[in-house]
Parts: sequence; structure tokens; C-alpha cells
Amino acid sequence: MVMPTPIFGRKYQHGVNWITAIAMAGFHVGAVAALFHVDVGAMLAAVLLWVAAGMFGIGMGYHRLLTHRGYKTPRWVEYFLTLCGTLALEGGPIFWVAIHRIHHQKSDQEGDPHTPREGTWWAHMGWIFFGEGLHQEAALLKRYVPDLSRDRFHVILSRWHWMTNVAVGLVLLVLGGVPYVLWGIFFRTTWGLKTRDDSTNNWWVALLTFGEGWHNNHHAHPTSARHGLAWYELDLNWIGIRALRALGLAWDVKVARIGSATAPEIDEAVA
Ligand SMILES: [Zn+2]
Ligand SMILES: [Zn+2]
Repeated sequence: MVMPTPIFGRKYQHGVNWITAIAMAGFHVGAVAALFHVDVGAMLAAVLLWVAAGMFGIGMGYHRLLTHRGYKTPRWVEYFLTLCGTLALEGGPIFWVAIHRIHHQKSDQEGDPHTPREGTWWAHMGWIFFGEGLHQEAALLKRYVPDLSRDRFHVILSRWHWMTNVAVGLVLLVLGGVPYVLWGIFFRTTWGLKTRDDSTNNWWVALLTFGEGWHNNHHAHPTSARHGLAWYELDLNWIGIRALRALGLAWDVKVARIGSATAPEIDEAVA
């Protein structure tokens, strides 16, 4: 079956995705409201959820495991990391992985869904609001993610990815009340969305994304589970993957060497 080739990038997207736009506006209102309900417990819950979503979910899960298969895990670990990933409110696993694989394929050329060449605003937010075709065309995205599209868990979670935040929000409401929901859901997700992709190695992006900011390294060695290659390039996601390996929950970990042009190698005992 021949599929039309999806073309991404600013000039091919048209029309506002209103559901996304309204949801985003609502989350920003909730984030501001949180500032008027300062509560230490609620802020601590927000930090824990931010780590779960950003580090376990996006960095270790969606990106280094699902998109690039930089290491292997038991299926239940993959599912757990994926559930954490949905908490970041960056879409379900099939959507996220498809967009990210296209980003690597096109890498800052025309057709890259969120290249900074189309403007910082576009790279950061515009592509989400105006990328009307992206969420709907599951059949097109599937072509880039045949692996996950065969797995019922990922298919169902891709459809219902926002449910995890609803579930966690209800738990927070019952346990801590409204301030916990404002901080743990609204402020935390809005904050997380502020620190997405960038186009160079950037230490503060790396810090705020648990190591995802070593972008040049990553594009040079996409399948390497380790992005911070120099000793001073802090990469918490890599520390997390090493911790999984120490627990026997990760193996076949691919690691690039600094300055090496060759493909990342399997490394079982790197320091
Ligand atoms: Zn990139
Ligand atoms: Zn990547």
C-alpha cells in the first residue's frame, strides 16, 4: 500500500489545533494560579512528578529507549517508563516517537517538524499549535513507528495519553487538595514544556532536561544511550540508565566515545 509522504515544517502546516491551544491556555492559567497557593508539600510533589515525567518518561523512556533503542529493558520497565512519559503532556508514545524520528531524518532541513530554522517560536510552540495534521493522521505516523504500532499497550496509550494526568490529578486532589493539583499537574507540566528541544549543546537545557541538552553529541550519535560524552557534560538520564543496568533491568547499552566517528558500541561496563 502506498502512503502519501507527510510533509512537515512551517509552510506545510495550516490551521490552528484548537484542542491543543485551549488546553495549553488552561494549563498556563493553572500554573499561574499555583503561584497564589504556595504549599511546600505540593511543590515537592511537583518536583517528584517533574523528575518522573522528564527523566524516566521523556529522557530515558520516549527518547533513548523507544525512539532510538539505545538499550534494552524488560517489557514491564518499558511500559512503566512510557506511562511516565505521558505525564509530560507531550503526546502519546507513537506520536512523540514519529515526530522525533522525522526530526532526526530531516535534521534542521525542510520537513523537520520543529526546526529552529523556522524561528525559535515555531521550534518551541508553533509546530504544536499549527501542526493540525500531526495528531490525527495516525496511519501516516505509523509508518515511522511500525515497532510500537504493533504493540497494543502503546497503541492504546497513544490514544489515551492524557488519562495518566487525569488519574494522577485525582489522586493529588484526594490526598492534598487543590494546591497539589495546581502544582503537581498544571505548574509542573507547563514548566516541563518550557524546556524542550534546542539545536546546540547547551548546559542549562541539559540541566533542566536531565541531560537532553547535549544535542550536538546526540545528533552525531543518535543511538547512544549516553548523550553527555565528556566528564563535565552532566547527563542524569544516562545515570538513570546505568542505575537500571546495575539493577539488571537494562542491557545491550549503546555508548558513543567522545571524538569517535564510529557508531556507538555495546558497552556493558563503562564507568
Ligand atoms: Zn534534535
Ligand atoms: Zn533523538
